[in-house]
Amino acid sequence: MGAQIPIVDYLALEPAPHLVAHECTACGARFFDRRNACAACGSDAGFRPADVPTEGELRAFTIVSLAAPGIPVPFVAGVIDCGGTSVRANVINTEPDPEHVTLGMKVRLATYVLGTDDAGTEAVGFGFEPAA
Ligand SMILES: [Zn+2]
Repeated sequence: MGAQIPIVDYLALEPAPHLVAHECTACGARFFDRRNACAACGSDAGFRPADVPTEGELRAFTIVSLAAPGIPVPFVAGVIDCGGTSVRANVINTEPDPEHVTLGMKVRLATYVLGTDDAGTEAVGFGFEPAA
């Protein structure tokens, strides 16, 4: 197997795939983007890495049927509550329709290979798939 690199810096692949949030050291709010000050409490005391549970519950979703050229549609864009941390991700490995995707459904983190470069390094993306 070749090397793997995650497509976003908050996706950790070892020892098992999981997300790592930046947690505000002052109030505990979690963010996935890099920021200088906390959007929740305004503190600039800093952030520490916090592992996010890989299982969660679908809190909101949109079935996207129009997207930029090259992006297969339809797909499901969702917001997943992972033990109190809100994660924006696509719901994958299921039919993208309201019969298969429902509010409150249990989902778990799943990774997939987006592509391989000439050196054999795989780019790894993530989504959430039905846990049942
Ligand atoms: Zn804060």
